[in-house]
Amino acid sequence: MAGTRLDEHDRDAPIFSPASFRLADAQADLIARTRRFGSRVLAPRAERHDRDATFPIENFRDMHPEGLLGICIPKEHGGTGADFLTYCLAAAELGRYCGATALSWNMHVCSTLWSGALADDLEMSPSDREAHRARRHLHYRRILDDGAVYSQPFSEGGAAAAGVVAFGTEARPVAGGFVVNGKKIFASLSGAADYYGVLCTERREGEEASRRNTLYLAIPADAPGISVTGDWDPLGMRATVSRTLLFKDVHVADDAMLMPHGVYFQAATRWPHMFLTLSPTYMGLAQAAYDFTVAYLRGEVPGTPPVKRRMFPTKQIAVAEMRIRLEQTKTLWFQAVSEARPNPSKEEMLRAYAAQFTVMENANALAAKAIRTCGGQAMLKSLPLERIYRDSRCGSLMLPWTAEICLDRLGRETLYEAGETDD
Ligand SMILES: Cc1cc2nc3c(=O)[nH]c(=O)nc-3n(C[C@H](O)[C@H](O)[C@H](O)COP(=O)(O)OP(=O)(O)OC[C@H]3O[C@@H](n4cnc5c(N)ncnc54)[C@H](O)[C@@H]3O)c2cc1C
Repeated sequence: MAGTRLDEHDRDAPIFSPASFRLADAQADLIARTRRFGSRVLAPRAERHDRDATFPIENFRDMHPEGLLGICIPKEHGGTGADFLTYCLAAAELGRYCGATALSWNMHVCSTLWSGALADDLEMSPSDREAHRARRHLHYRRILDDGAVYSQPFSEGGAAAAGVVAFGTEARPVAGGFVVNGKKIFASLSGAADYYGVLCTERREGEEASRRNTLYLAIPADAPGISVTGDWDPLGMRATVSRTLLFKDVHVADDAMLMPHGVYFQAATRWPHMFLTLSPTYMGLAQAAYDFTVAYLRGEVPGTPPVKRRMFPTKQIAVAEMRIRLEQTKTLWFQAVSEARPNPSKEEMLRAYAAQFTVMENANALAAKAIRTCGGQAMLKSLPLERIYRDSRCGSLMLPWTAEICLDRLGRETLYEAGETDD
């Protein structure tokens, strides 16, 4: 607004201008609040947690009074009720300031988005729907009233997280609940979350393991039989503290179910954009690499001498190339996240894979270019660029839609219609 002084945490323009991308006022307000939170709260803490590979739990404590833990909890349950697109745009804003917090926040938010708006789009019997509403209400009250933090440990080191075989972690039905046994690797928020949102295979005595029987359970982190093991000293996303979780005869009650029987399998097949939710963090990192470069070449990065480098034609060309790559990334990604809905068309599916691939690869390409363009002084650990570079490297490795899997599916699904073979 003319004449209004922006505070120091409101200097960054939105990644997606509300006017240009036709956002509603309420959407734009929520995204702007999230961006200011990222700049004010996350950015100053990011360097320390990255260096020490510690989980920034205080960021999540501070999200609670801001309403950010309940951003995707449906309004009927007392949350903000943000839809898929609004959440993705808000998460991208957090990714600019701390990739690891944005990625961990995604794990938490998905437990509410998938059990909330997404589950409402799926088929359930009226009795399942009623039971689901009652159970999710319990989870949502824990989040809204007590600030409970949920995580999403799916990966097991085999083909299950890619959606190829049933999860090896198993839930055996017993009276009033389940007994869970298994192991999850790369479990972000391990040791920090209050509930682990575990995907496992529901399996009765003598029954074959089947992906159709995937169960999504929120297991209390302090349940007897859970242990956190292994080191955590990775290249990037260090503050996610994604160690290994072991489950040994862990008893949970029925109300731990975040989705009714069979509904996760339905979600994964009918609402596949649910797997695009890892990408907003990397959209934010792509923007951060670009923003850093512009500020650095203008001599405006806080903590560095006010030396301008923008007058060199090579720098100008590099920034132009970065801008083109950023615009390509933003446009494709915005279109793909706008298309999230049940039963997407083949065209929309192929675009979703292309968007995921593009964001994950381009975030790192932009960060690499930023380092080459800005030069040696820009990659000191006192500045955020080298962390952005390391964090952005992780995106294309994340299942189920790694860069390789996206390429694989894009090629195959373009050339073959469903059920077609060459026999
Ligand atoms: C910082 C970070 C945080 C993470 N946090 C979580 C978390 O909270 N929860 C969670 O569940 N996971 C998490 N992950 C794990 C992640 O999603 C992957 O499961 C993990 O990176 C896979 O590593 P891997 O070496 O075991 O991959 P592998 O399964 O050995 O696969 C190696 C590569 O082979 C390719 N590949 C694998 N399967 C197929 C296939 N069927 N078809 C074609 N290509 C294939 C893929 O490109 C893959 O990258 C996290 C990962 C990182 C890096």
